[in-house]
Amino acid sequence: MPELPEVETTRRGLEPHLQGRRIHGVILRRPDLRWPIPAEVETQLPGQRIAAIRRRAKYLLLDTAAGSALLHLGMSGSLRVLPGDTPVRTHDHVDLSLEDGRVLRFNDPRRFGCLLWQPVGETHELLRDLGPEPLDGDFDGDYLFARSRGRSASIKTFLMDQRIVVGVGNIYAAESLFMAGINPLREAGKVSLARYQRLADAVKQILGYAIVRGGTTLRDFISPDGAPGYFEQELLVYGREGQTCKQCGRDLRYAAIGQRATVWCGHCQR
Ligand SMILES: [Zn+2]
Repeated sequence: MPELPEVETTRRGLEPHLQGRRIHGVILRRPDLRWPIPAEVETQLPGQRIAAIRRRAKYLLLDTAAGSALLHLGMSGSLRVLPGDTPVRTHDHVDLSLEDGRVLRFNDPRRFGCLLWQPVGETHELLRDLGPEPLDGDFDGDYLFARSRGRSASIKTFLMDQRIVVGVGNIYAAESLFMAGINPLREAGKVSLARYQRLADAVKQILGYAIVRGGTTLRDFISPDGAPGYFEQELLVYGREGQTCKQCGRDLRYAAIGQRATVWCGHCQR
């Protein structure tokens, strides 16, 4: 599944091709993805200029004067800017044709992605209750410490709660907790401020690094410029059950936390 770094990589790859371009037309090859595609996408977008392409959590927003198209890549979605005569493949569900003759094409085999509409001046309900962006200044150790008081959930579950902070999926939670030396089973409300400061720094460092490297965590993820990411072989704990800690050499531990596979080192993470 595309995680925050892949979505940010997609945004950065698309930006020079989309920003300032006018949308000529909209082709919907099916009426729905995960949810029905609202009529505004077809009625409002044509003729509009794309003022900006933004990311919020794992959503992408194409801002126009009429409103914003809200996109999510789901489990398997991808966005490419292609020459207008590029043959349509299976699962190419949506085209936004651009004034320069190219198309922004949305392909999504599993259709867990979405294309929705956000009117000007409103925040879509999917975005309303989201926590801060992990790379923004208002996400730090003080914030995590304050939000975690009185919480008995595990720190890993807490860190993956999108109302606390967005975009820290299973992979990045596991790696950040390893880097910060915190046992993922520890009760969120009992972790000290100093350790939350280390954790916030680790989240920023790992996500920032993944973005610089172009994603990825996904074997079949390919960035819009066609380059596969190489983050996977650098993972220290995620997906390494049955192996030994790269730091201390002891056997890694494994448990399901909140039904998510979790691997950690009982020696390096306390
Ligand atoms: Zn270790």
